[in-house]
Amino acid sequence: MNYNLIFQSQKEFFNSQVTKDIAFRKENLSKLKHILKANEHLLFEAIYKDFRKSAFDTFVNELNLVYLEIDYFLKHLNRLSKPKKVKTGMVLLPGKSYIYKEPLGCAFIIGAWNYPYSLTLIPLVSAMAAGNTAMIKPSELPENTMHAMAGLINTNFPSDYLYVVEGGVPETTEMLKLPYDKIFFTGSPRVGRIVYEAAAKNLTPVTLELGGKSPAVVTASADLEIAAKRIVWGKFLNGGQTCVAPDYLLVEEPVKVRLMELLKQKLDAFNYEDGAEHYVSIINKRNFDRIVRWIDASKVYYGGAYNENTLYIQPTLLDSITWEDSVMQEEIFGPLLPVLSFTDFNGILCEIIKREKPLAAYLFTKNKEQKNKFLKTVSFGGGCINDTVMHLTGDSLPFGGVGNSGMGSYHGEFGFLAFSHQKAILEKSNWGETNFKYPPYSKEKLKWIKRFM
Ligand code: NAD
Repeated sequence: MNYNLIFQSQKEFFNSQVTKDIAFRKENLSKLKHILKANEHLLFEAIYKDFRKSAFDTFVNELNLVYLEIDYFLKHLNRLSKPKKVKTGMVLLPGKSYIYKEPLGCAFIIGAWNYPYSLTLIPLVSAMAAGNTAMIKPSELPENTMHAMAGLINTNFPSDYLYVVEGGVPETTEMLKLPYDKIFFTGSPRVGRIVYEAAAKNLTPVTLELGGKSPAVVTASADLEIAAKRIVWGKFLNGGQTCVAPDYLLVEEPVKVRLMELLKQKLDAFNYEDGAEHYVSIINKRNFDRIVRWIDASKVYYGGAYNENTLYIQPTLLDSITWEDSVMQEEIFGPLLPVLSFTDFNGILCEIIKREKPLAAYLFTKNKEQKNKFLKTVSFGGGCINDTVMHLTGDSLPFGGVGNSGMGSYHGEFGFLAFSHQKAILEKSNWGETNFKYPPYSKEKLKWIKRFM
């Protein structure tokens, strides 16, 4: 396939100015929502075939988030796209200053596999809302969902506006050579580096939504019952294949035994057995093998079972883990929860900040001082106090990483800005002209300028 031809046609379409029209943007956002809703059953079937993700999970954690994002833009697009008036400095008077938001142009969106619809379509919605054209490359691992998205978008939208490419590494590598106006990538830090390097060749701005090891810290003052419930839900959602899932647990020594018991109770109650409708299987054999190698029977406190035929891994709590264990050396991205204990709160924060900046971090505590210390000391993309994962729902908080977990953010207005350029405009009056800045210069002029400034 000649990606350059599609890219050139998108550039031409963008230059025709059509996508800048607010009515055009709204009409196409509504159309996208309508198409997705009308074909929900196909989308549910596709994802179930890929990794046994239920319609409930897919609706709540994927499609509904896409619909909400579209609704947000339908409601707020006029306000967001209006030039924003800002203060004009004394020296610039008479005149006015404003920020004029314009779409960047042709965007390239690369999706990850774990939430294949939301991680591909929410950035697409932001790109459309901001007035861009887009080439889209969903992850190839869930091949049925990739195919479903390509089918729906490519048959309902012209390719010079939106186009989904089905493909894997060779296709993405080829596509990355083109001089897009924006690249929005979701995936691993390893591939993020490849994308960033390719973007640098064309000076293309990037948003990198990456991953990492996100800690959950439980202190002695926490409400343990609530903490256990929310940690189990956030960790084992999507079979542990969630970028912001707590990767490992740090629990204050005096409450460790009680917390472990409660975690076990919640796991029993949530009933994540093989074949359960609400429990997702591992995406493929390669990831299955990567995860099960960390199940060390001598450290299993709960779970540890797996089934190669169904790619099922039972939610597993690993006890007596140390920072040196192999499971602590890379992002798990699966249903294993290593548990470490601590006695010194400040000491454990020091351990966290010695490592790469995580995408998320969670603290369970009722102690205000500890909360403030945690927020001030640890750098991470975003997170929760007394909850897990939920910070990424809703449109008022930016979602993104920092350092090794990414750069830039999206959701709501943040997504709009990620796909926009903020053009700085000073609109000067034709009256009130002074000659201070014009040559020839003189001591007298300098004296007045110094006084004036
Ligand atoms: P990945 O980096 O392997 O793949 C992501 C995308 O990059 C896919 O579309 C893939 O086709 C493409 N790709 C893979 N190798 C490539 C290469 N060599 N050159 C060019 N393109 C290539 O990531 P994944 O396995 O799909 O997802 C898991 C990772 O993504 C985890 O680290 C997870 O934390 C992270 N993630 C982050 C977020 C977020 O929002 N921050 C969301 C989901 C997943």
